[in-house]
Amino acid sequence: MLITFDLDDTLICWQPEIPAEPVKLPWYHKWFRTEPLRHGTVDLFKKLRDCGWQIGIYTTSHRKSKYIKKLFNLHGLKLDLVINQNRHEKIIENLKEKRKPSKLPNWVNSQLHIDDSEGVLIEGKRFNFRALVVDPLDNNWTNKVLAESICVTRMLEQGSYRA
Ligand SMILES: [Mg+2]
Repeated sequence: MLITFDLDDTLICWQPEIPAEPVKLPWYHKWFRTEPLRHGTVDLFKKLRDCGWQIGIYTTSHRKSKYIKKLFNLHGLKLDLVINQNRHEKIIENLKEKRKPSKLPNWVNSQLHIDDSEGVLIEGKRFNFRALVVDPLDNNWTNKVLAESICVTRMLEQGSYRA
């Protein structure tokens, strides 16, 4: 099972009212510019892994895959997959649609994609992938993700999964 997350305004939130995960950089990482990882991410990833999920990032940003992996690694988190805009463009290259989607997580075998964009939810209906929208200001966001992931796990077990 693979779950993918959007980055901007989903896991990386710059708004001052949104709490971030603390990070203590060792001296040899002091040069590294850290972006705020949304509070709750570390615990959420651990719980998802305990339930057997692999975790990936699917973002329209051009941040390099190496940078993204490193950012999560600073918080002790491992990523199984990173799709940035460059990789996404390769994915949709052969898609014969005039209006191409901004994301296509089902093409990288993601059974659940988490995003802050309602537009991605609409794309999910058009391109047959399952998405859950979480608001950056929602304090209960990790519980929503967990509840949906449990729902998807059950559907997969029962063979009744639908996007
Ligand atoms: Mg976003």
